[in-house]
Amino acid sequence: MVDCVFCRIVRGELPSVKLFEDDKVIAIKDINPQAPFHALVISKKHIESILEVEDGELIAHIFRVIKFLANKYNLAKKGFRVVNNCGHDGGQTIYHLHFHLMGGRPMDWPPG
Ligand code: 5GP
Ligand code: ZN
Repeated sequence: MVDCVFCRIVRGELPSVKLFEDDKVIAIKDINPQAPFHALVISKKHIESILEVEDGELIAHIFRVIKFLANKYNLAKKGFRVVNNCGHDGGQTIYHLHFHLMGGRPMDWPPG
């Protein structure tokens, strides 16, 4: 059993505000939101980063869920940002595959 924060959230051992769940992913509110809406779409399987992904269908599925959430939480009309931080220089802090979905304010570019 993998002892990582997101595995523990997936197993229900740590609390989270769940926005969506199916057999492959969960979507939760980020504990430290960087925008009025900030969700994390997390694979249920422990995969360290996109570098370890072998199942392209999983990524397609994650993006279907992102689209669903963007519509459900009214982000689609004004726009939103999807982020994947990969590795040290990418700013990844939790080594369990997840995508950020942020919206509710205009985003800056370039990101920090
Ligand atoms: P990363 O930097 O790896 O791309 O993103 C990790 C994200 O997970 C951060 O935005 C951080 O705020 C969030 N996070 C870290 N620990 C927890 C937690 O226990 N619960 C929730 N909901 N989010 C968390
Ligand atoms: Zn994990």
